[in-house]
Amino acid sequence: MANALYDALFGRHAGSDAPFLHLSDGDALSYGAFLGMAARFAHALTAAGLAPGDRLAAQIEKSPDALALYAACVQAGMIFLPLNTAYTSDELTYFIENSGARLVVCDSAKRDEVGAIADRLGAATLTLDADGTGTLADAAADQPASFDTVPRSEDDLAAFLYTSGTTGRSKGAMLTHANLLSNAQALADIWRFTADDVLLHALPIFHTHGLFVATNVTLVAGGSMIFLPKFDLDAIIDRLPQATAMMGVPTFYTRLLADARFTGDLAAHMRLFVSGSAPLLSETHAAFEARTGHRILERYGMTETNMNTSNPYDGERRAGTVGFPLPEVELKITDPASGETLRQGEIGQIEVRGPNVFKGYWQMPEKTAAELRKDGFFITGDLGRIDEDGYVHIVGRNKDLIISGGYNIYPKEIEVLLDEQPGVLESAVVGVPHADFGETVLGLLVPEGDGPDLERIGAEIEKSLAGFKRPRKLLVIDELPRNTMGKVQKAALRERYADLFAAV
Ligand code: ATP
Ligand code: MG
Repeated sequence: MANALYDALFGRHAGSDAPFLHLSDGDALSYGAFLGMAARFAHALTAAGLAPGDRLAAQIEKSPDALALYAACVQAGMIFLPLNTAYTSDELTYFIENSGARLVVCDSAKRDEVGAIADRLGAATLTLDADGTGTLADAAADQPASFDTVPRSEDDLAAFLYTSGTTGRSKGAMLTHANLLSNAQALADIWRFTADDVLLHALPIFHTHGLFVATNVTLVAGGSMIFLPKFDLDAIIDRLPQATAMMGVPTFYTRLLADARFTGDLAAHMRLFVSGSAPLLSETHAAFEARTGHRILERYGMTETNMNTSNPYDGERRAGTVGFPLPEVELKITDPASGETLRQGEIGQIEVRGPNVFKGYWQMPEKTAAELRKDGFFITGDLGRIDEDGYVHIVGRNKDLIISGGYNIYPKEIEVLLDEQPGVLESAVVGVPHADFGETVLGLLVPEGDGPDLERIGAEIEKSLAGFKRPRKLLVIDELPRNTMGKVQKAALRERYADLFAAV
């Protein structure tokens, strides 16, 4: 038995002088040096008592070492469990306890906080950065720069990744070696990644987008990454000329467009811009194309399934859609009540099946059984439809569906209309409790320029939307609450305005 994931991502670059990471200070780290570091970590983890199959939780800032720890886990057969660096003590406690991690790796700045939590839960702690006090880096320093790769079968777990918690408490998605490998190969192939690619990487690496999509695709192709600690406009504008491709969340693109330094010239040499993790507004799409001549390629995925769909590399990248299912991924739209497959064009729940689909939610057998059907289809929780040309449209999330007086209302349809109005930068539509109707529609508008003319928008709504879909109220607010991946926190909005019509 081999370790196909390690071989495809890392093993084949052993000893290579080719650059892998271009760092902020202008230095580059070669594949060989990176893998040497990973091998030392693999020795140090083993020396710390970790065995293949053990879970290692890591709450660490983005750095080459952090990425090497991921490589070390794949090589030594441990399950890598990256945690959002913004998590508070309470959240950390939940994730460490829930995952049953044996070891928690953190930065030295967090040693006391994380150490105390891990101690209480019976897990060991190691800090990642060298500080001379017996850290992972110190322990790795004297170890050899090669490690005998631990064999793993396709079905063995490679990572636990917690979902973003947009619709409720984050769930631990169990991802296998085969899940990660199949997706990395499929994406590198359809997006034409080669060893000549230089990916501008400004995403966090505790999320599927930055860790598995961006990083694994680059690794499979043998390309390199401009590895920025975070999204920083100055750094992006400075480094874009050296890149060939960029992957981002929609907010990356709106922020770039808001900066006059981001000119068409700056993007002229680029091969590819990809967007995902949240819907890309058609306006952003159009403005980006007008400024740069590039059409952003939008794709759709999730923690549980890696990537499901992508707009075509060649062929029409259709705004407002997430393109077609990836090779080997089956996607169907079903009736939430009966589970029956719906006809083309009808809105229903999106289900996917393929080598990308996870093994289940950690310690949530009932939820797993309810969402992962016996025939292998996973009920994603997203609503969508397939248009006459086969493009998949995401219409929103099942949980965001508003049911008012017995009618189904899809917030996206209303948001698209509101977003188009002058003076509106962006909008969110949520259902809030209503004494008569159960729920009613609330529209939240973020202003731009002189701000929106609510009367005019009201008239526009009356013209375009059936009575039951019209927002009962439009409120202008400073900004939409978003998490680190740029996702609008609708649950927070629903909670904030829960009392508005509850007692009408
Ligand atoms: P949780 O499951 O904990 O509520 P989450 O679903 O936001 O959080 P992720 O796995 O990070 O956690 O995000 C996946 C979701 O992001 C998808 O189910 C979908 O709703 C949304 N998404 C991803 N890409 C796109 C896209 N291109 N357009 C619209 N939505 C997208
Ligand atoms: Mg989800």
